[in-house]
Amino acid sequence: DNAPASNFLRNIIDADLKKPEYQVRPWAGKPGGADVHDGAPADPANIRLRFPPEPNGYLHVGHAKAICVNFGLAKEYGGACHMRFDDTNPEKESEEFADSILDAVHWLGFRWENFGDDNLYYASDYFDFMYQAAEFLIQAGLAYVDEQNADDMRANRGTLTQAGVDSPFRNRPAAESLARFRAMRAGELPDGAAVLRAKIDMASPNMNMRDPAVYRIRRAFHHRTGDDWCIYPMYTFAHPIEDALERITHSFCTLEFEDQRPFYDWLLDNLASEHKTADGGVLKPLLSHPLPKQIEFARLNLSYVVTSKRKLQQLVTENKLNGWDDPRMPTIVGLRRRGYTPEAIQLFCARIGVSKSDSWIDYSVLEGALRDTLDPIAHRAVAVLDPIPLILDNVDDDWADMCTAPVHPHHPHWGVRQFTIGKRLWIEAEDFQENPEKKFFRLFPGNRVRLRYGYVIECTGCDKDESGKVTAVHAQVFLDSKSSTPGADNYKVKGNIHWVDAEDCLPATVRLYDRLFTEEHPDSGGKNFMDSLNPNSLTEVKAYLEAGLKDAWSGTVYQFERHGYFVPDLKDHTLENPVFNRATTLKDSWSK
Ligand code: ATP
Ligand code: MG
Ligand code: MG
Repeated sequence: DNAPASNFLRNIIDADLKKPEYQVRPWAGKPGGADVHDGAPADPANIRLRFPPEPNGYLHVGHAKAICVNFGLAKEYGGACHMRFDDTNPEKESEEFADSILDAVHWLGFRWENFGDDNLYYASDYFDFMYQAAEFLIQAGLAYVDEQNADDMRANRGTLTQAGVDSPFRNRPAAESLARFRAMRAGELPDGAAVLRAKIDMASPNMNMRDPAVYRIRRAFHHRTGDDWCIYPMYTFAHPIEDALERITHSFCTLEFEDQRPFYDWLLDNLASEHKTADGGVLKPLLSHPLPKQIEFARLNLSYVVTSKRKLQQLVTENKLNGWDDPRMPTIVGLRRRGYTPEAIQLFCARIGVSKSDSWIDYSVLEGALRDTLDPIAHRAVAVLDPIPLILDNVDDDWADMCTAPVHPHHPHWGVRQFTIGKRLWIEAEDFQENPEKKFFRLFPGNRVRLRYGYVIECTGCDKDESGKVTAVHAQVFLDSKSSTPGADNYKVKGNIHWVDAEDCLPATVRLYDRLFTEEHPDSGGKNFMDSLNPNSLTEVKAYLEAGLKDAWSGTVYQFERHGYFVPDLKDHTLENPVFNRATTLKDSWSK
């Protein structure tokens, strides 16, 4: 069924929408600056969500879940969803990755243009505000510049069972920290010489509250801000500020951020409060209430797949497959090239739902969603993937006839396909057995089968080479037995095989895929995912396809009868050298 699976996030939104502060929509106005809180017009969006990837790789099926959660819920509730790049880590990020992410979200069927706003944001656009927020914390006595070396800092953080030790810089005067922070900003200190730390609690049982670093020195070129900055905010500092500036109502993230939630709240509460400075001055709040709240949900783990940009990057850089869009990759571009459709991925996400505890989803759920979306729409065609010749001995060389078959068995008004039949055909090698096993109803000497959409034939024997391998099958055709003619009923046969005309068919390369990893959980329990790469994840065959597939469109998925769903390869398919990928087989071969 296509009904969305249980989603506890809906319950949270439903409860919030009943609260008075959600009725007045105080997050009104164009997001993106510190001055957005004053009397801007009411916002038509009742909730405001965001999808915040880091542009450091191509999106994968796990991100598709986050996209469906955020863009999907916003759409469902008449809210807005922001597309935001969390681009605070310059070394690993690039324009190429950012572009690919926008493409992937659009392709999946979502838009960030809501209510006339182009809600595309970059965390780097908030660097000035973030810097201002850092100075605010310093002046409020809530942050200090720490100049311990990295080893001491690590050692002094303590362990889960042992409280941390205060840095000797922890109680330096605010004015001194401010001067040092400005020196960091001005490029007067080398990389790694100092960090700005929030001043919270070195004995907290939550390690993330033991004075986390919020700014570091990094002389790195940023793909949007260039060399403007030599200090960059840490993710844990930047993210809550991005959410607050954009007036996000619910900041949905995956469970690994649960331990960060206390800092998320600490930071926003402090930035939204008035503080006294050491010299008796007053700091006016930088943010106002209501503040966004962080809510965690379970990430997607898919069996026989790794969903980590870093690990996928390793497969690409070590040439284990052919780039980010290799059809074996669980990236959006890979799935797309494999033959997955946006509808299939959306259905998959709806079926798996959203829960509060991590689990593994069986790969068959993904394939099932693909089959269920394709079966009602995929045009049918015939392909012989492991061909041997079939020769009809009782007709002349130039005998030919035309056969018809439905484009789709459940949509008669979609019309018919036509293809020729002649003396020489291609059939699947496995459809002939010289000495048939029990319950084999296809071709063997003396047996009759129907050539699907064509004639009944009776097998008369085969040719073999010296090694005993079958090189051709021979048969007699009954010319009064054609499908959909009155004579057809006079023949009762148990077998029905597919074929293509050897004189009029489309030779093609067909790529058949198997799981990329042989381990069900390739990267859990200390396993190295590289050790379980399946060496046979790709098989290329020379196949013969129904002649009409000459007109196959890139991106259109076909059902090849008995073999599964196939799509012309987005990159390699040409008229001269057709290349098809198998998206999935017809039946589930994954569940145990
Ligand atoms: P990766 O570890 O693969 O790099 P990430 O979490 O670092 O992923 P981001 O680009 O920072 O990726 O993530 C964008 C959003 O996608 C985040 O909100 C993140 O929680 C979510 N996300 C990433 N992986 C998954 C997953 N497997 N399941 C659900 N959501 C995910
Ligand atoms: Mg990340
Ligand atoms: Mg990550």
